[in-house]
Amino acid sequence: MPTENKRDTTLPPGFVARMGRLLPPDELAAFLAAFDGAPRVGLRVNTLKISLPDFINIAPFSLAPVGDWEPAGFLVTDNSRPGRHPYHDAGLYYLQEPSAMVAGALLAPVAGERVLDLAAAPGGKATHLASRIAAPTPLGRPLRQALDDEGLLVANDVHAGRARLLADNLARWGASNVLITSAEPERVAAALGPVFDRVLMDAPCSGEGMFRRHEEVEWSEAIVAACARRQRGILESAPGLVRPGGRLLYATCTFAPEEDEQVIAAFLGGGGDWEIGDWEMVEPGRFAGFDRGRPDWAAESPAAAELSHAVRLWPHRFPGEGHFLAIMERAAQPDAGETPRPFRPRPPAAAEMRLWQEFAVAVGLDLPAERLNVHDNRLYLLPRAAIDPGRLRIVRYGLHLGEFRPGRFHPAHDLALSLGAGEVTTAVSWTAGDPRLAAYLAGSDLPGSELPDAGSDGWVLVAVDGFGLGWAKRAGGRLKNHYPHHLRRAAV
Ligand code: SAM
Repeated sequence: MPTENKRDTTLPPGFVARMGRLLPPDELAAFLAAFDGAPRVGLRVNTLKISLPDFINIAPFSLAPVGDWEPAGFLVTDNSRPGRHPYHDAGLYYLQEPSAMVAGALLAPVAGERVLDLAAAPGGKATHLASRIAAPTPLGRPLRQALDDEGLLVANDVHAGRARLLADNLARWGASNVLITSAEPERVAAALGPVFDRVLMDAPCSGEGMFRRHEEVEWSEAIVAACARRQRGILESAPGLVRPGGRLLYATCTFAPEEDEQVIAAFLGGGGDWEIGDWEMVEPGRFAGFDRGRPDWAAESPAAAELSHAVRLWPHRFPGEGHFLAIMERAAQPDAGETPRPFRPRPPAAAEMRLWQEFAVAVGLDLPAERLNVHDNRLYLLPRAAIDPGRLRIVRYGLHLGEFRPGRFHPAHDLALSLGAGEVTTAVSWTAGDPRLAAYLAGSDLPGSELPDAGSDGWVLVAVDGFGLGWAKRAGGRLKNHYPHHLRRAAV
């Protein structure tokens, strides 16, 4: 085994031996050498909130495009810490390593589509899909724009705790045309049916492609085998989710053929409810570093030849971590599509409506009453294309506007994150370097004299360079801080 790789002592020996059986010696040396390199910092711009030219104008980091395949994707090329910048808190970008951006770019949903991300937490790829299904955004008015969009993203994760993290990340993204659920794949299929134009299955896997990002890794042949079994099971729900003529993207972050080519070959070969020929692999656009899948790694299968359409991202050939991606299209069947049942909202009661209206008028927000939905004293704005979620466990449906408390309406942090300062009449916007902004993010109250005009008491949107960050409340000559406690930074 080559020893020049400084990190290969931390790579599991069984993994290195297995890669030695898969790759020729010179390729293996280059592959292992890639583990010496530092992982790349990638950043994907939130086009729901800002256009690319405008972001590039204000970005305080050195950026290099990841490639023509994703115009919103960049590598951070200096030592800045974009995760600490207020633009990150305002959801202007997601820190995502470049290979993980390829899934959204290849699935390529377009404005107005119904899209499912079946294993979505913590939400990197879901934020990407949310941006893609929206029409281009006029600067700084994400909520106003979302009102007219027909697209719907259903983002699901089987683990409830992870699904809440997913909801937080989609909220920071300002994504309002979303249904976030937490259920097993077969339950999602049973509840929603084959109604999706595009489905992403970013499968739980042995994670070999991410070893460079971790100090310690757990790996064994048994883990690979268990993951492969689970992945085959998850894929069985695909025919119950993808509409005829729709597309499915299966992705992993592992090199193991058992979890990649062999899973796809088994799926293409037919299963319980589908036959060989019902699904075909699609040849994606090929860009620098997009290697082909390996038919010889699933040679036993009658579908093996198709596997060359898959994409393999190798860390020694692509500026990112290891990934495998396979796009499949379901055969079209005239008149076979299902139309989802529309969702019946529970509108606010008269007293609730009065409280909401009082708040909405005070801040200058005007939202369509027929899209308002109340659940557990909380008010939500539903996506225009809301579908009936059946008995699925809902984490969030649409945009959380706020909560009814005795005699008043309390706006949600999610609402602030979906607003531009120009969308409300009571906003205060500071530049990223303004000490008042740092004080706000640290949780401090501010003297009312810091506000641009006298104004009346009530809720104020606090923004960074026009992008909503959180709420404050003007009362008794002070600006009381309502930035969520768990997000507050150490005082400066
Ligand atoms: N797509 C995510 C992103 O871009 O941030 C990453 C998804 S991660 C690779 C795989 C996800 O699958 C995990 O969040 C995990 O909770 C979920 N998962 C685990 N077991 C599962 C199962 N049996 N069925 C479906 N999803 C599962």
